[in-house]
Amino acid sequence: MSSLKDQVVIITGASSGIGEETAKELSSKGAKLVLAARREDRLKEIANQVNQSGGQAIFKSTDVTSYEEMEELASFAQEEFGQIDAIVNNAGLMPLSYLNKQKVKEWDQMIDVNIKGVLYGISAVLPHMRERKKGHIINISSVAGHVVFPGSAVYSGTKFAVRAITDGLRMEESADSKIRATIISPGAVSTELTSTITDEDIKGGVEELYEQAITPDSIARTIRYALEEPAEIAINEIVVRPTSQT
Ligand code: NDP
Repeated sequence: MSSLKDQVVIITGASSGIGEETAKELSSKGAKLVLAARREDRLKEIANQVNQSGGQAIFKSTDVTSYEEMEELASFAQEEFGQIDAIVNNAGLMPLSYLNKQKVKEWDQMIDVNIKGVLYGISAVLPHMRERKKGHIINISSVAGHVVFPGSAVYSGTKFAVRAITDGLRMEESADSKIRATIISPGAVSTELTSTITDEDIKGGVEELYEQAITPDSIARTIRYALEEPAEIAINEIVVRPTSQT
């Protein structure tokens, strides 16, 4: 039997792509899911699918850029399922652009969702996990959190930050509170992520890169693997990319 059986997992950005596939993967192993994103209709549909196939999923419309809404999400999980075993801070945006295009609003959005959203997710579950002296926080970074390319300055900045925050969290919490922290860094994955790009000069290059993109179930399996490992084993980071992506 999977160690995920009856484990309560919160997934942000669960309304599409990697988050949606992660919900399906974890529910197939018996996890109890709390799905969060802004599009409630999509969450409802995914939760219905999970529940109809014998799993357990509840959902709550949540904007990860709101500290209060993230706190409410954690309270909801605890009230409904009595505990929180893990959170997958997956919600993210990737409106790539050249800095000289001065897409300041998009920079702000990326910083708010990709960095602050992860921090609020950590903050929402940390007191509960510290009290129980167990828990697992998985944060989604990117290959772009390891390397920068023209057009990825701000996005990469946010994903470098996710890696720094996760590593700091691991160092602070692993010894005493036994909380595990894992970074998952995907390469090109075919999801809705590229639809947020508005800089026409970037689109062509990104479309070319995404011709080799792998499907989101590959990342869902990686997340499941990290979560299923025994409590004394901490998977610190996994980079997963298409074989052909250099
Ligand atoms: P999608 O666009 O399919 O999913 C993004 C998810 O984030 C959606 O569920 C969206 O839901 C949610 N989201 C966006 N803004 C907010 C917000 N303010 N509050 C709550 N939820 C929000 O893309 P992916 O599945 O690809 O992205 C998932 C993660 O994977 C991201 O962090 C991304 O950076 C990362 N990643 C993806 C790669 C790829 O190639 N696809 C590569 C490397 C990393 P809603 O709009 O309903 O709120």
